[in-house]
Amino acid sequence: MFRKILIANRGEIALRIQRACRELGIATVAVHSTADAEAMHVRLADESVCIGPPPAKDSYLNIPSILSAAAITGADAIHPGYGFLSENAGFADMVDAHGLTFIGPTAEHIGMMGDKIAAKAAMAAVGVPLVPGSDGELAGLDSARSVAAHIGYPVLIKAAAGGGGRGMKVARETADLEDAFTLARGEARAAFGSDSVYMEKYLDRPRHIELQIMADNHGHVVHFGERDCSLQRRHQKLLEEAGSPAIKPAQRDALGETATAALRKLGYRNAGTLEFLYQDGQFAFIEMNTRLQVEHPVTEMLCDIDLVREQIRVAAGSLLGYEQRDINFDGHAIECRITAEDPVTFMPTPGRVTAFHAPGGLGVRVDSALYAGYFVPPFYDSLVAKLIVHAPTRSRAIDRMRRALDEFAVVGIKTTIPLHQRIVDDAGFQAGDYTIHWLEDFVSGG
Ligand code: ADP
Repeated sequence: MFRKILIANRGEIALRIQRACRELGIATVAVHSTADAEAMHVRLADESVCIGPPPAKDSYLNIPSILSAAAITGADAIHPGYGFLSENAGFADMVDAHGLTFIGPTAEHIGMMGDKIAAKAAMAAVGVPLVPGSDGELAGLDSARSVAAHIGYPVLIKAAAGGGGRGMKVARETADLEDAFTLARGEARAAFGSDSVYMEKYLDRPRHIELQIMADNHGHVVHFGERDCSLQRRHQKLLEEAGSPAIKPAQRDALGETATAALRKLGYRNAGTLEFLYQDGQFAFIEMNTRLQVEHPVTEMLCDIDLVREQIRVAAGSLLGYEQRDINFDGHAIECRITAEDPVTFMPTPGRVTAFHAPGGLGVRVDSALYAGYFVPPFYDSLVAKLIVHAPTRSRAIDRMRRALDEFAVVGIKTTIPLHQRIVDDAGFQAGDYTIHWLEDFVSGG
């Protein structure tokens, strides 16, 4: 087992990883930018190293600084969290080259799944169903036209290197195609440095269903069931549930069998998430995330499992030590992502938190690095807290979430707590009968 882990991240996820390390008896090293000198992840770590100025490119994405911090503190492994360097195959390679362990999949798998075209090809080859679309990259507008004519409008142009919902444009009919193609390419080039794009059939009313996987280095792969992440704004998740109100246990088992068999064939290691769109009773793969997800706590609550502990254990070479039949799905869990944003305009609201009170009680979990007196810096992602509840049924989980949101006090900055209160009070949400478009309609008053 590792003696010391450097956590190459900040905020709630850095704390989350520290907690798992502490329970395993592993020492922690925090890294931080000058803007985060007072941050909770720095205060609670065993050691900390300043790795650069506030902009992420100079600090949390600064590979030489992070590797130096690992060397001078004698860390033997690096956990990347999510975002930042977590899906950077070159970083995973360099961590290995420095004789440290990268807590995640191999650089080869990160690279493969980071290119969505390669990911779809790899998944199709091992029997995973895909959203219909182009067979690889679109060479130009002419090939876009012919693929669209073949699969039928509406279609979606997506960036091969895409992420965070960027580089994605819908064409509802032939007349829209040229604009969609040009815009998607331009956005992809600007955001990801590659203008490689592909096409998918645009599904009109799917749910976003994803499956949590864990694999050890010895060929054992299990799944921890699905999460429903359909509640999105601008393709970004806001509230997640486990399990999905739309998926029956037999469907979960069947999807799990397909996915685990596929990853076994690919020789995948560590945690991963397969994302699917689900419509008319069919699952279609869209992408795989080769890291821990923001929304992993709903799965942890549902299955009573510590996913970060499992990541660390398998990265150290341990066997999973259990089988699929040992995993239970118990009750229902919901997560609200609370961000430092105006709940109506979604404008970021960095600033000083003057008072902070986290909700508690049975079945309530708060993953947050906030405290009274903390200044939320303007440089990073606006996520400031995840409120997770677990209860025996979905309806009791909703009651518990309503109660916990009412109890939650973040004073000094605006947050999206009032938006979450409106969502959980809505009869449509309570009915569970929503698609990926539901939230956009809800926030625009439709
Ligand atoms: P990113 O990596 O940028 O998050 P994804 O491929 O994961 O991109 O897609 C993000 C979201 O965009 C999905 O959860 C879904 O809401 C929407 N989306 C993606 N592909 C399609 C599609 N073919 N049809 C309809 N919506 C889609």
